[in-house]
Amino acid sequence: MTLGELVEKVRAYQPDPDAELIARAYHFSERMHEGQTRRSGEPYFTHPVGVASIIADMKLDVPSIITGLLHDTVEDTLTSLSQVEKDFGHEVAALVDGVTKISQITFTTREERQAENFRKMIIAMARDIRVILVKLADRAHNMRTLSYLSEEKQREIAQETLDIYAPLAHRLGINWLKSDLEDNALRYLQPTVYGQLKQDIAKKKTERAQYIDEVISILREKLTEAGIQAEVQGRPKHFYSIYHKMESQNLLFSEIYDLVGFRVIVNEVRECYEALGVVHSHWKPVPGRFKDYIALPKANLYQSLHSTVIGPHGERIEIQIRTQEMHRVAEQGIAAHWTYKEGRRGLEEAQRFAWLRQLVEWQQQLNDPQEFLQTVKGDLFTDEVYVFTPKGDLHNFPQGAGVIDFAYRVHTEVGNHCTGARVNSRMVPLRYQLQNGDTIEIITSAQQTPNKDWLKLVRTPKAQNRIRQWLKAQQHDRSVSLGREMLERELTRQHLDLASVRKQGKIDAALKALSLKDEETLLAALGYGQVTLGQVLAHCIPQTETVQGQTADAIELEKIRQRAQVREDRGGVRVGGVEDVLVRYGRCCNPLPGERIIGVITRGKGATVHAISCQRLLASDPQRHIQVTWDSKAEMLRPVKIEVLSEDRHGLLAAMSKAISESGVNIVNANVRTLPDKRAMNVFEVLVPNAEVLEQLIRGLSRVRGVVKVTRMGK
Ligand code: MN
Repeated sequence: MTLGELVEKVRAYQPDPDAELIARAYHFSERMHEGQTRRSGEPYFTHPVGVASIIADMKLDVPSIITGLLHDTVEDTLTSLSQVEKDFGHEVAALVDGVTKISQITFTTREERQAENFRKMIIAMARDIRVILVKLADRAHNMRTLSYLSEEKQREIAQETLDIYAPLAHRLGINWLKSDLEDNALRYLQPTVYGQLKQDIAKKKTERAQYIDEVISILREKLTEAGIQAEVQGRPKHFYSIYHKMESQNLLFSEIYDLVGFRVIVNEVRECYEALGVVHSHWKPVPGRFKDYIALPKANLYQSLHSTVIGPHGERIEIQIRTQEMHRVAEQGIAAHWTYKEGRRGLEEAQRFAWLRQLVEWQQQLNDPQEFLQTVKGDLFTDEVYVFTPKGDLHNFPQGAGVIDFAYRVHTEVGNHCTGARVNSRMVPLRYQLQNGDTIEIITSAQQTPNKDWLKLVRTPKAQNRIRQWLKAQQHDRSVSLGREMLERELTRQHLDLASVRKQGKIDAALKALSLKDEETLLAALGYGQVTLGQVLAHCIPQTETVQGQTADAIELEKIRQRAQVREDRGGVRVGGVEDVLVRYGRCCNPLPGERIIGVITRGKGATVHAISCQRLLASDPQRHIQVTWDSKAEMLRPVKIEVLSEDRHGLLAAMSKAISESGVNIVNANVRTLPDKRAMNVFEVLVPNAEVLEQLIRGLSRVRGVVKVTRMGK
């Protein structure tokens, strides 16, 4: 194509193009590519000119045409971007830079979802939509001249075209370009099918041309009779759409009836319906095949009437009826066919493409293509961001995702130890939000661990889950060590130790009785308060000799234990007026509602509540003390252990348990140990609401005949 032809082509749709600038770019590119040849042996320069010509077919502005001419100079010749900027201005330089960058992305996967991401990424990364349009023209020209490459390379490029570029063209509504890309891709991917189709279609070419003429002349005649001025077109469908129909509906070529589609273009909307009436009165409509996209436009503002009728030879004919204006919207690019024939159109898709609606309105208002394209700039997919690893791997995230999301995407361990990141080589804090095109390098430290605040910074479910998991595991570890401490302390008091108790199989017995899976779980449950020390000790402390033979007491104990499935309440305290603080009660003093208390703050463990007289509290750092109060509204029960020294006689246990029940208190656990000199030590673990009730209980127990002494344990 000569310079004159190119300028003429542009002038056909743009009244007064800057011909001098086009000429300068034309000669510049010719000079820079001088001596380079394509595989075909042609001068390389034929390629940029071919691309510029396709851009003119898209009716794009002069900077786009110039970009088409220069698009390979920076990558393939000695030209620098700054020289392009100096000679052709910042706008063209930015466009050339964008096209060069997109060309450098290599697509390694054929997976559909991934392909979709790449399409979106290309759109998101190209801040100017013209970059994509020029890239599409580049690909279209390469596809038209693919035959000189190796078969492997042909297939690779053709597949990529089908995966990425044809759908992109489709999204942007440039239907003719999409068909062009698809047909050429099919040619190299399915050469046999393509050859056969070409032959089949060619065989009937004359026949079909006659048929088209016949239908068109009937339509013209009937429309003229009705006084409707209309343009009637018959268009052969493109190869790929025929191939796709055969594949998806499992049809033979001979079974494809609609190789041709007909179009009636009128002046007024009213005439669309009149023309439809004419068509339907002459040819019988196929039921269920009429669609009114005028009354109900597609989401991309596509408007037309569609109908299928039974034609002159009993065959089906697809007819579209629309106004000139609708035709322009449908054909001329960006707004056209992105949902046409694909039939999957949800509300979400419609909303996502709301920009398209606006675009069409602008397009209708603006005659200057440059002004039009200015309005199309910006991110089209605002709900997602695309970023890279330092190695160039692509990841997409929901808008608002941050450094921590990225770290967890890399690896859970990277997430758990993430302290910050370098974004495009610049240090950023954890709260940094990912931006399109960022290259992210995560910085980790062995000392770093997740905390609760991280949950506010992340947007991806994976990061949320991993952080929660970590926090939970931390709590688990703390509970295990606390449980071990509690158990060991109590065993020591009883002159026992964990190792020997374990050796005797008593831990296993406790696990079985409490339905827990292993010792660690048991210790965690103990530390967390899901099981009580009494429940565990019942299996660890020797008592068999004493209970043996005392059937009545053994049964009584069992009854008490069975009733005792009440869980301990852990809330009920307000810490300095703040709710939702992790509270634990000092095992040393085990304070009860009604008693005066003080909290001790422990890092990472929340507040431990102690009775004001507790020795531990007195020994602790006063700086860590915090005012706590009992929440009068919270109904809670606190576990308390009571030691009752009594005579060792039958029926006494029953009497004691009755006394406890009568004061309205639940027993969590009970244990009896016989002592020498005909005495017994009874230990009850009970749940009491406050100190007052406990006092009543102690008084009640003391009154039972045979009871020697009642003591609250842990004081
Ligand atoms: Mn190129």
